[in-house]
Amino acid sequence: MLRIYVCITQQHDLRLVALAGLICLLASYTAFSLAGRAAQASSRSRAVWITASGLATGSGIWATHFIAMLAFQPDLPVAYELGRTVLSIVISALVSGAGLAIALRPRTRILGGLVVGAGIGAMHYTGMTALELPGEQVYDPTLAIVSLIIGMGLSAASTAVGFVQRGPARRVVAALLLTLGICGLHFTGMAAVAILPDAAVPLPGETIDPFWLATAITAVTVLILGLGLAGSSVDEHLTGRSIQEAARLRASEKRFRQLANATFEGIVLHVDGRMVDANQAMCTLLGKPLDWLIGREIWEIIAPGSHDLVRLRMLTGEHHTQEIELRHGDQETIAVEVVAQTIEYEGSTARVVAVRDIRERRAAEEQIRHMAHHDTLTGLPNRRMFHDRLNQAVALARRNGTTVAVLCLDLDRFKNVNDLSGHAGGDLLLRQVAERLSAGVRGQDTVARLSGDEFAIIQVGASHPDDASILAERLVKAIGTPFDLDGQQMVIGTSIGVSMFPSDADAGEDLVRAADTALYRAKGAGRGTYRFFESEMDARLQERRVLERDLRQALAVDQLELYYQPLVGCGTEDVMGFEALVRWHHPTRGLVSPAEFIPLAEECGLIMPLGSWVLRTACLEATRWPSDHRIAVNLSPIQFRHADLSKEILTILAQTGLAPERLELEITEGVLIEDTERTLATLKTLKAAGISVSLDDFGTGFSSLSYLQRFPFDKIKIDRSFIWEMEHNADSMAIVRSVIALGRSLRITVIAEGVETQEQLALLQNEQCDQVQGFLLGRPLPAQALARSPEAERDAAAAE
Ligand code: C2E
Ligand code: CA
Ligand code: CA
Repeated sequence: MLRIYVCITQQHDLRLVALAGLICLLASYTAFSLAGRAAQASSRSRAVWITASGLATGSGIWATHFIAMLAFQPDLPVAYELGRTVLSIVISALVSGAGLAIALRPRTRILGGLVVGAGIGAMHYTGMTALELPGEQVYDPTLAIVSLIIGMGLSAASTAVGFVQRGPARRVVAALLLTLGICGLHFTGMAAVAILPDAAVPLPGETIDPFWLATAITAVTVLILGLGLAGSSVDEHLTGRSIQEAARLRASEKRFRQLANATFEGIVLHVDGRMVDANQAMCTLLGKPLDWLIGREIWEIIAPGSHDLVRLRMLTGEHHTQEIELRHGDQETIAVEVVAQTIEYEGSTARVVAVRDIRERRAAEEQIRHMAHHDTLTGLPNRRMFHDRLNQAVALARRNGTTVAVLCLDLDRFKNVNDLSGHAGGDLLLRQVAERLSAGVRGQDTVARLSGDEFAIIQVGASHPDDASILAERLVKAIGTPFDLDGQQMVIGTSIGVSMFPSDADAGEDLVRAADTALYRAKGAGRGTYRFFESEMDARLQERRVLERDLRQALAVDQLELYYQPLVGCGTEDVMGFEALVRWHHPTRGLVSPAEFIPLAEECGLIMPLGSWVLRTACLEATRWPSDHRIAVNLSPIQFRHADLSKEILTILAQTGLAPERLELEITEGVLIEDTERTLATLKTLKAAGISVSLDDFGTGFSSLSYLQRFPFDKIKIDRSFIWEMEHNADSMAIVRSVIALGRSLRITVIAEGVETQEQLALLQNEQCDQVQGFLLGRPLPAQALARSPEAERDAAAAE
């Protein structure tokens, strides 16, 4: 170091040294701006630019060397041999030009710089051989090698900096580095040489006088300035491109940028993982300005979770689209879809990556997924998800030896809500039911809506069946509490069937079936209650299914028949009419009681065709009777849900020709519990047409008297249970008595059913009941028997 310092300060004219440095800097800057143009140019004009750049570098190195040599004052006469002096400038231009060309490619940037450094060295030491003086040059090999290392190292650094990015600031840094490299090599090289004066050394004939050398250096400097000028302003002439063309290109470049900015997709360009450009959409996507982006590694914008994936694809060079996550701002990540392609960019190979924001798509997908597993009305899991969860719960319980309870729920009287408040009311109610159920279970339990008014619950970790019954009880109570539908109070209820894993079944589906069976039982037990599955239920259920199938069959092949039971005047014992009672002649079971198959028909929907058949048959057969006795027909509450019941009845009357006054409809309180305006309207229409309406089974239902105010019944039929008890039970007697009194005051006919004994008849006659019905007065009989002579048959039947 010291030797270099001594060499510069004591053996050189410092003013000239400064000049050499300045020219070197100028040449270096020119070289880099020309090389920059080469990088941007098309391959055709690139050669021109790189030649110009090589020339600027080569001559810059050369000029620096020889100005510095002029500054060298070895106290001996100095001359320069012409041939080698010229050779040195040629070597310098060729080697450094080649180095710059190599450095254009990103992968060989450093290598290019090293070649430039080698060019400097070659120039320097060739130039030194041109030095002629009366003495001998002796080299210190270590310093000579150090000089080469300095030159090559700093050159490589300069190309690494100068080629990575555009922009004057970088170019200045690169030029400074190259200048340091050239000067460093030169002066270290000069320190490495010692001149031993020897008068015997002859001076060669062909030498350049330092004056001419100075002139040549001036010319070279002018050349460098000229090249620099050419590079900065007369670009178009040098490359043979017209000014218009250049303008057009610029405009097209601008359009391209506008286009890139206009696309919704983000576009980012990177060279070997370092970002060099991006469009506006990309910046927005990342929440960062373009300045921030440029020069950074792409890893900085990719979420760490996606790094491996991206790395893998870069290795395999795949071109398919890929979903990854980007970092947005400093905290968030966003889902994007990317596709990359290799392009030529400013002379190097770059990857252009198109990035599409797929957050909305993801959200939509998520919503679809949610919809596939949830019920849209209540937001509860749907049947599909329920089964998934149940299977998981069962698998887990099997492994852990714990239990799972399945509760199947069915809303009681839900149809009424729909009828009364429309679908909007029904929806509102279902949502409130969902809320109450969800509030009633623990977090790990699942409440699902399976369909319409069917819900199901998976209770996990129930250690005891008691846990399930506590839950069932709680839910029955919760759903039984009145609902408020926009100010309208609604009372519904729920029936629940419960099954347990592993005692009742050991697979999800079987558990649900068992719970369903139990639910059936709960409904049969009067609703608003819950039942646990019992194994014998299964057999009964099976039996029911067979019965249902057979009943369908029965309707189709005429296995049904109507029997008629007389309604008799209490005092006179005159026949006032007949009640039609359906019978089923089952092919293998014989006569099946309506008490058995009517509820079944109600549950499975068969009551509609069955009820129509009964009505039509009863009316038709009544027209064939010799007398014009009344015919009483039982109607199920389910038939009232059918919108056109009144129309149907009136049509049947018209078709069969039965006078409406002869038809009596028997309905139970059940019809009025489902107390809709429509039911009342139907009843009023029928009554207005002349048909009479009886309240059947009076006293058994909820009760009772309020219904009598709501609708003007023509007849009240006291339920047979009171008739059977009244002889021995004072309460029953009191009820019978008061109903008869009530009927009298309201001018409603009162009839007592199930009269089996003379004592019962006597009591009723004593109370002045209007009519009686029962085995005592006549059993139900088939039509043919009645047709012969109803009265006679009645007597015959009473005698039985
Ligand atoms: P209900 O309407 O209360 O009919 C009276 C039932 O009591 C009939 O039973 C009848 O045979 C029976 N009965 C009549 N007198 C006596 C008696 O002195 N002693 C006893 N022990 N029983 C007597 P049935 O025919 O088995 O019908 C049972 C129930 O089935 C009926 O009760 C009614 O609710 C329903 N039902 C019958 N036919 C029809 C129908 O066509 N449509 C509808 N919807 N329901 C029907
Ligand atoms: Ca009846
Ligand atoms: Ca009855």
